[in-house]
Amino acid sequence: MKTSVAPPDGKSVEQLDRAVIFLGPPGAGKGTQAKELARHYGVPHLSTGDMLRENIAKGTPLGIKAEPVMKRGELVPDSLVLKMVQQRIEQPDCTHGFVFDGFPRTVAQAQYLMSLLRQNGYKPALVVHFVIDPKLLLRRITGRRMCKVGGEIYNIYERPPKCDLRCDQDGGELEQRPDDREEIVGPRLQAYEKQTEPLVAYYRRLGRLHEVNAAKSVDALCAGRVDVNRWRFICAAVMSSKRCTVPGSSCMKF
Ligand code: ADP
Repeated sequence: MKTSVAPPDGKSVEQLDRAVIFLGPPGAGKGTQAKELARHYGVPHLSTGDMLRENIAKGTPLGIKAEPVMKRGELVPDSLVLKMVQQRIEQPDCTHGFVFDGFPRTVAQAQYLMSLLRQNGYKPALVVHFVIDPKLLLRRITGRRMCKVGGEIYNIYERPPKCDLRCDQDGGELEQRPDDREEIVGPRLQAYEKQTEPLVAYYRRLGRLHEVNAAKSVDALCAGRVDVNRWRFICAAVMSSKRCTVPGSSCMKF
């Protein structure tokens, strides 16, 4: 499907024709933003976590092997994930590009992806890195509360409800997700850092890394909304593939 997006200068934008990769810690809002970018371009949003969970739900051989690994919070082996990704991006709906969310997770996966994209005739991938101060991230995740009734999301620090722990919309009780508790989030973020740092360095060396200040859109993310103007700006940059505009930095900042 062909979709055109209006960038800030008002000109229409061509097709994406490439893979866009979203890197960022849990809670940075990359899933929401990745979906929005995919929607703008009319291309698939490919979350490897969702794809694996789908396989588990359907009881496929892949799902049966992946389930215990995921339960332990470990990475599913490359022998399973890479085949799954290859099969997915060879589907016709991926012809004009796609947005990855949660893939690649390691340098080995990134290297495999690069050769796969080359073989399938795609332009080099564009990598968007969500950068956020870990303290702010911790505050954002641990402060998150969701209405039990309507699902409205609040943040007790940055977007508190008017009445103590009750939803402004429907008065529903607000609750914290079990995995948003500080003792769980801390180790999860540390594991992410350890895993992703070499990946970020890898893409930075290749000059493909575009950094996004994820702290900017706190309000939009808390409210479950997406900052469309910011995305238009990023989309325009994606299409023109501008690079290295920040002195002393190997990447572009938005
Ligand atoms: P989170 O961001 O909280 O880890 P995801 O939905 O992205 O959530 O992933 C859930 C789980 O799926 C991971 O913990 C891991 O076990 C597995 N997984 C997802 N993507 C990959 C990947 N690219 N490589 C290996 N395992 C993956």
